Amino acid sequence: MNDEVRGPGFETLAIHAGQDPDARTGAVVPPIHLATTYVQDGVASHRGFEYSRSGNPTRAMLETALATLEGAPFGFAFASGMAAEDALLRCLRPGDHVVIPNDAYGGTYRLIAKVHSEWGIKFTPVDLGDLDRVAASFQPETKMVWIETPSNPLLRIADVTAISEIARANGARCVVDNTFATPYLQQPLDLGADVVVHSTTKYLGGHSDVVGGFVATIDDELAEQVGYLQNATGAVPSPFDCYLVLRGIKTLAVRMDRQCANAAVIAEFLHGHAAVAAVMYPGLESHPGHDLAKLQMSDYGAMVSFTLRGGEPAALDVAASTGIFTLAESLGAVESLIEHPARMTHLSVASSPLSVDPALLRLSVGLETVEDLVQDLEHALGESGRARGVAVRASKLGAC
Ligand SMILES: *Cc1c(COP(=O)(O)O)cnc(C)c1O
Repeated sequence: MNDEVRGPGFETLAIHAGQDPDARTGAVVPPIHLATTYVQDGVASHRGFEYSRSGNPTRAMLETALATLEGAPFGFAFASGMAAEDALLRCLRPGDHVVIPNDAYGGTYRLIAKVHSEWGIKFTPVDLGDLDRVAASFQPETKMVWIETPSNPLLRIADVTAISEIARANGARCVVDNTFATPYLQQPLDLGADVVVHSTTKYLGGHSDVVGGFVATIDDELAEQVGYLQNATGAVPSPFDCYLVLRGIKTLAVRMDRQCANAAVIAEFLHGHAAVAAVMYPGLESHPGHDLAKLQMSDYGAMVSFTLRGGEPAALDVAASTGIFTLAESLGAVESLIEHPARMTHLSVASSPLSVDPALLRLSVGLETVEDLVQDLEHALGESGRARGVAVRASKLGAC
C-alpha cells in the first residue's frame, strides 16, 4: 500500500485516537475528569460540557477512541454491556420483533425475553448458521437482527455479511455483539452491520477490573436515539472506569495476539485428549465455522469451549481441579479462567431454548506461559503422570 494514502494502523489509533496530550499541562496521559459540573461563560453558554451525565471529557475520549477502532462515526459508553444493550433495545417500539441467536449470551437473552418482552418486544431465537432459517424468521415487524460471533459459549460463527444483507432487504438493522472478537480481530461495520455492541468488561478493559459497555454505529438516526437515551436513562460509566477501558485498549492488539496464540495451542492439546469429547474453537479445521472465521476475522480469538466424555460430573471435576485457570465467570482478561456455563454464566437460560450441555466447560485463555496452562489442564484432566510436577509448580505460584 502507498504510505501517502494509508491511514494510521489499528495499534496507532488504539494508543492515540481521542487521547491527545492534555492541552493545558502537556500531560501525556490525559487527566481523569471527575468534575460533575462545568463553568458556563454566560447563561446556557458552555464549552462543550455542562453536566457529567450528559457529557464528560474522559468518557468523550473513550467514545472517540473505541468508535474510531470500530470504524464508526458514533460511539456511546455505558456503565455495563447490559446497559449498552438495554439502550439499543429501547430504540424499539412495542410490537417490534427481534431475531436473536439461539445461543445468545445469557444476559442478552434474559434482557430481551424477561425485561423487554414485558414492554411488547417480540423475539425469535434462531440458529444463525442456517441462513434460510434466519431469512424465514423475519416478520413484517422485525426491526433488528442480533448477531454474536463467535458466540458464547459454543463459539459458533455467524456470517455477518450475509445476515446484514438479509436484514437490509427486510428493512431491519443488524447488531453485532463484538465482545468476543473485539475490533482488533473483527470489524462488523465493514462487513455490513449497522451497529456494534460491546461488553468492555472483557477484552477491551482486559484486566478484570472494570465493568463497562459500548454502542458504536454508522446509523445517524439510531445514534441520535442512543445518545438521547444515554443521557435520559443515565447508565453512564464513571470517569475512572472510562480511563481504565482507555488504558486497556492501548494494549489490546498485543494482548490479543498472544492470547490467540495461547488459545490455539490449548485447543490443539484438548483436541487430542482422550477425556475430551469435542472442542469448540474456530481455529480448528474441524470447527464448522472455521472457513467463515478465516474470512471475517483476522485471528480466531482466545475463548475455547470443550465437552467431557465423562459428562457433567467430569466437567465439574475438571473445573474444580485447575490451578492456574481460575474458576470464575467473565472472560477476556490477562488471567486464564475456567467456568461451567450450565451452572454459572448460562444458568439464566437453564430451561430455555438456549440451555447448554452440562458437560461443557469454557476457557478464557490469558497471558500466562502457555506450557503452564497446558500442564494445568493436563493435570486437571487426570493425566496422573504429570500431576505431581504441576502440584509443585502450582504451590510455588502461591495464589494459584
Ligand atoms: C459479558 C457479556 C455481555 C454483558 O456485559 P456486562 O459488561 O457484563 O454487562 C454481553 N455480551 C457478551 C458476549 C458478554 O460476554
